[in-house]
Formats: sequence, structure tokens, C-alpha cells
Amino acid sequence: MAEAALFDTFARAPLRFVRGEGVWLVTETGERYLDFGAGVAVTSCGHANPHLVAALKDQAEKVWHLSNLYEIPEQERLARRLAEATFADKVFFTNSGAEALECAIKTARRYHYAKGHPEKFHIVTFEGAFHGRTIATIAAGGQEKYMEGFGPKAQGFDQVPFGDLEALKAAITENTAALLIEPIQGEGGIRVVSKEFLRELRTLCDAHGLLLIFDEVQTGVGRTGKFFAHEWSGVTPDIMAVAKGIGGGFPFGACLATAEAASGMKPGVHGTTYGGNPLAMAVGNAVLDVVLGEGFLQHVNDVALVFRQGLAGLKDRFPGVIEEIRGEGLMLGIKARVPAGDLVLAMRNEHILGVPAGDNVIRLLPPLVVTADEAREGIARIERAAEKLQSDQLKKSA
Ligand SMILES: *Cc1c(COP(=O)(O)O)cnc(C)c1O
Repeated sequence: MAEAALFDTFARAPLRFVRGEGVWLVTETGERYLDFGAGVAVTSCGHANPHLVAALKDQAEKVWHLSNLYEIPEQERLARRLAEATFADKVFFTNSGAEALECAIKTARRYHYAKGHPEKFHIVTFEGAFHGRTIATIAAGGQEKYMEGFGPKAQGFDQVPFGDLEALKAAITENTAALLIEPIQGEGGIRVVSKEFLRELRTLCDAHGLLLIFDEVQTGVGRTGKFFAHEWSGVTPDIMAVAKGIGGGFPFGACLATAEAASGMKPGVHGTTYGGNPLAMAVGNAVLDVVLGEGFLQHVNDVALVFRQGLAGLKDRFPGVIEEIRGEGLMLGIKARVPAGDLVLAMRNEHILGVPAGDNVIRLLPPLVVTADEAREGIARIERAAEKLQSDQLKKSA
């Protein structure tokens, strides 16, 4: 039963997990589920990863919290490592993805303001986008269902259809500050933006003096088989929002930027109480130890291939259930022919978790440490779920 003392904002499954081990979650009655949702692409290193647990315990015994009034060595170290491994020169730490986007939006607007162009505050976004649930990020995402009833839409977000270059060109005006895009739409249904399109965005930004912002909250930190998804395209942004996988389950995010893009962000212009907290930073550094470790991204790509082949086989065998397989690396989508909720439920009955998304898609976002054997086990469970749905369909039509 739904707990009455909680806000009714979530439609929760009646599952109570009390423990996790790698790619597995265990309920209070001891039932084991294969967790291919990873808390929506969060537990990148698996549940109860010993290296992360040790880092958190170690920091917990030293100091939990320090204000950003003081220097925080683990924060400096993580920023330096992120800068070294990416396009960025500067990092601002947040507590969540939406806050990383808020920082990205403020950084872009402030950049133009500091250059004497306060009128350049508009940001162009794409239909189907998801950038978070704050007042500004629901306006950026542009989805009516998330904005309804929350007062006037925050100003300065102009949306164009997904992948529509001509509409994008037409939307750029004297007031445009930046373009904001997820290299692969997550909530929108694992819709991959083509490398060519990302290159066009870079060209447009350079031609018009705009900043390019990538939302890699879901795609980042090894999820697609590169440290960040945009690396597949060879294009680099000016600003990037990161969260989810970077904390491995400890809640934090980051806004990364080039020194030029961050040039308007002076002392006092932005702030946070918890952002860059020592506990979060200790875990973040431990996550990077894993993800940037020797051979790790190769492992992600190798296991992704096992998934790809297995899922392609299921699509061929169950055409009435599965329409299409999408995605990159371990950010995979099954576009269903049955209602996506039915497939999620059938999978849950086989003790495997996936995450529903837009466009009638079920996301598979396993912990990146998933092994080839665990991938095959997962595919066998999805196969049983699809078999069940297909035989139900036949019964119905008979
Ligand atoms: C999850 C997500 C967000 C929001 O992150 P929160 O931590 O929930 O605020 C923003 N952008 C993308 C692409 C996401 O997947």
C-alpha cells in the first residue's frame, strides 16, 4: 500500500529492497532481482561496490560537511580529474542533475551578460528533452505535462523539433545565448542524436557566438562506452551538466565548462550549501577510480555487444512485442509494440528491473560493472517476459 504520509507524486511498484550486491537487489523477503535500471542510470559501479563503500566510510570518520567558505581538498582533486579527462577547465559541484542544469543555464546567460549582452538569455532546446524538475528546467524540457499548474513558464526557452536543423536555424535570434541538448534523450525514449547533427550544432554555435551545452546527466560517466557520450562525435561542448552515474548512488552532480564559458561566474554570483560536500567528493573520486580504470570502458563496450546481439535476437523472435532496439553502450532502449508498462511488469515478474521512458520505450541501464554472464541472464529473463506477452497476444486474437 502507498504510504499516506508521503507526497503522492510517485506511482511506486510494490517492491521493498533492503540490500544490493553488484547488479542484484534483494527484497525484505529475500527475493533477488536483476537491477537493469540502476536507479535510473545511477549505480554505475554496482550496489555496495567495496571500493565506494570504503571511500565513504573512510570519509565519514573524518569530516562529513564543510562549507564552500573553505577549501575542500577532495573537491579540488575531483575537479582536477574531471578537467583532465574532458574538454573542461572549470567545475561547479551540485547535489543533483537539475541543479547541474541550473548552473549550466546560469553560466551561459552570465557569459553573455558579462560580455555586455544581457539580452542574450534565450536557450534553444529540443522536443522530447528532459532536463529536470525545477521551475527553469521544466521550461527547458518544454514538456506540457511537467509544466501544467506551476504558473507561468520560465522565460527564455525556445523549443524546436528533435533533429530539425532548419527549425533550429530559424529559432536562433539576437537573443539566443546557447543550445542545450542531450546527446541521447533518456526520458524521451533513448533517442540518439546523430553525430552529424551534433557537429552541425557546434558549427552553428561557432558561427553565431553561442554556447553549446550538453546535458550528459544520464549519458555520462561511461554509460555509452566513452567517458562522455559526446566523445563518439568528436564534438566538444562549452558547458556540460553531469549527475546520476558520477555519484554511483551518492547524490551529486556537476557543471563543467571551459574557462571562457565560465568567465562570467565570479565570486558571489552562484552558490550552494551541500554541493561539493566531502562525502560526495570522496565517493565521486572512488567512482572515477573505477570508471577511468584500465580497461573499464572497453569492458562496457564488450558487454554492450552481448546486449546488442541478445536484444536483436529477441526483436526477431518476438516481433509482436518488440519493435526496435535503440541506444549506445549500456544505455539501451526496447521500443515495445505492447504498452511499455506491460513489458516492464512482465519483466518484473521474471525478477528483472527496467525503466519506462517516453515513446513507449523500456530503458535498460544496468550497472556498468555488469558481466557478460549477467547480461545473458538478463536477456533470458526478458525473453521469458516477451514469450509470455506474445502467447497472451495469441490467446487474445484466437
Ligand atoms: C535525470 C536527469 C536530469 C535531472 O536529474 P535530477 O538528479 O533528477 O535532478 C536531467 N537531465 C537528464 C538528461 C536526466 O536524465
